[in-house]
Amino acid sequence: LAAAAPSPTGTTTHCPYCSLQCGMRLERVGRTLNVVEWSEFGVNEGALCRKGRTATGLRGHRERLTSPLVRDRATGEFRAVSWDEALDLVARHLTELQAESGRDTVGVFGGGGLTNEKAYALGKFARTVLRTSQIDYNGRWCMSSAAAAGNKAFGLDRGLPFPLKDIETADVVVLVGSNMAETMPPAARHLDRLRAAGGKLVVVDPRRTPTVERADLALQPVPGTDLALALGVLHHLIATDAVDEAYVAARTTGFGDVRRSVTAWWPEQVERVTGVPAADVRALADLLAAHPRAMILTARGAEQHAQGTDTVLAWINVALALGLPGRPGAGWGCLTGQGNGQGGREHGQKADQLPGYRSIEDPAARAHVAHVWGVEPDSIPGKGRSAYELLEALGQPDGPRALLVFGSNIVVSAPRAAHVTERLASLDLLVVADMVLSETAAMADVVLPVTQWAEETGTMTNLEGRVILRQRAITPPEGVRSDLDVIAGLAERMGQRLGQRLDFPTDPEKVFAELGRASAGGLADYSGITYDRIRDEHGVFWPCPATPEGAVPHPGTPYLFAERFATPDGRARCHVVDHRGPAEVPDADYPLHLTTGRVLAQYQSGAQTRRIKELPDSGPFVEVHPLVAARLGIEDGSLVTLSTRRGELRAPAKVVSTIREDTVFVPFHWAGVNRLVNDALDPTSRMPEFKVCAAALKVGGH
Ligand code: SF4
Repeated sequence: LAAAAPSPTGTTTHCPYCSLQCGMRLERVGRTLNVVEWSEFGVNEGALCRKGRTATGLRGHRERLTSPLVRDRATGEFRAVSWDEALDLVARHLTELQAESGRDTVGVFGGGGLTNEKAYALGKFARTVLRTSQIDYNGRWCMSSAAAAGNKAFGLDRGLPFPLKDIETADVVVLVGSNMAETMPPAARHLDRLRAAGGKLVVVDPRRTPTVERADLALQPVPGTDLALALGVLHHLIATDAVDEAYVAARTTGFGDVRRSVTAWWPEQVERVTGVPAADVRALADLLAAHPRAMILTARGAEQHAQGTDTVLAWINVALALGLPGRPGAGWGCLTGQGNGQGGREHGQKADQLPGYRSIEDPAARAHVAHVWGVEPDSIPGKGRSAYELLEALGQPDGPRALLVFGSNIVVSAPRAAHVTERLASLDLLVVADMVLSETAAMADVVLPVTQWAEETGTMTNLEGRVILRQRAITPPEGVRSDLDVIAGLAERMGQRLGQRLDFPTDPEKVFAELGRASAGGLADYSGITYDRIRDEHGVFWPCPATPEGAVPHPGTPYLFAERFATPDGRARCHVVDHRGPAEVPDADYPLHLTTGRVLAQYQSGAQTRRIKELPDSGPFVEVHPLVAARLGIEDGSLVTLSTRRGELRAPAKVVSTIREDTVFVPFHWAGVNRLVNDALDPTSRMPEFKVCAAALKVGGH
């Protein structure tokens, strides 16, 4: 895991990939840019996974775009154009479309990898220049179920309400649907230290992953049944008088109804639904009850379901019954996935939110943000469609006819991806800002080449709610612009046409200062955070409100909920939830569960990591249990066809005994995999059901 030898020189920054946002130094030696250790940054203490270590591999890559591209209508081919020509064309086309079909005819799709400054500028651009309600981002497909559950239970959504390192001080950590050892390897050291100190690790996952190899107790439920497991754990806690009644009485509401609602969830009933032995359900509950410092951490495995919000709420109910939230070394948290999955949802690129994690439907929030933006509150549009619903509506009679995409590779990452690709193809105008010709950019009418992480400065908010600073270490290639420049360029051109003049700074530090003012008084208050503070303190946890001139600065908030929750009465809300099961379950035609996930060497849609030659690119494969393989005549490496009601994938089989017999697994970093995935949505979070659908498998490629 270690990077190259430590160096006191170079520029400190953070990895371009996952939500751990590992610190690193970038050091130039001649024409080479080396990744070297930044051991003083406490989250990863200098350790990096192989993706972080090779992150400079896109620098000077032959596929890097260095000129805007416009598709020639006659030939269908791209031609390189100047920035002025590209931005003029986009601004003109958007203006005409809006004049013809109304504001909402333009949609904006953002990304959880964009810096806070970009996410903020994109939201402001959508609401003040385009004045469209149709903006959302791919983070909706990442942790939105956990966000919705956190808001419902605690009145606040911050992935972890405590520093990640606190894992080491717990007695028990329960990971529900997290493969931490492969998805964020440097964080697994906390698990190792926990165990070295005598703590216990429990992992709930249908696959026996490298994380499960570390576990003291491993539960392998049927995909889509984590909620039932939580109900059974709570049932057993109640049956054994393990509930912290004083805490429940003083700090929660609604537990009486929840207590009654789990009466029927005997561990034996849980076993029938989840396949987890009743004895293991009891063992997990007993382990939690025996240790006051217990943590329950959920991730995509539990959250990317049509019942994802309720699943997380069920685990939060368990945590509240035990009195864990707010207690040192204990609580519930979500292990966010994307690099800025947290910050990306706090500053306005989500359909229902304004900067500072404010509701777009709250008149006071609208008035505050409108004042910062210099517009009338009434001019800010209302809540728009969620990410998948936005894509589903593209080109439809009441849907957008144009889409601007920043930092997202929808063609690979969307559920029911073939259908979404058809929708993209039906647009009058598709504009994609990216650094390479991703699968989505390849479909665009206009492609705008933008900077990559080491070429620009900006803040990210990691999975702990710690705001950190990526610093520019190298000059971008000629012809490439920052997304902030692109947004400002479009704002200026469209503003002129509309007789409007709004300020869109391109200096990230100025954007951050404005973002701070817009967030002031909101749940995610950044107003007391500055670039200098982040540099000096190696990150600052929100909320961090500004203090009056001359007063002691607010220290930031690493720990939440010690005294009260962010609800009007300060109490956490327990919610009655019940197991509904996945939207699709196996039947005679599709007899297996399909679940998807990540591999160590690749990240998300692979647009970046698949182009880094040091990272192995296996292509998709289908993990299948030996008994199923034998029954179907499949050998390790055989070409197989995996099909669901939405499409087929041909890929080699990997015969492994680490997966449930009723389940197959495919990593999702390549085009074609998400064509299989179901688009059933969680009713609250609008999260698609990425993690389970019904599938059929056969040997051969036809
Ligand atoms: Fe760290 Fe994640 Fe980057 Fe790996 S991908 S180095 S775990 S931030």
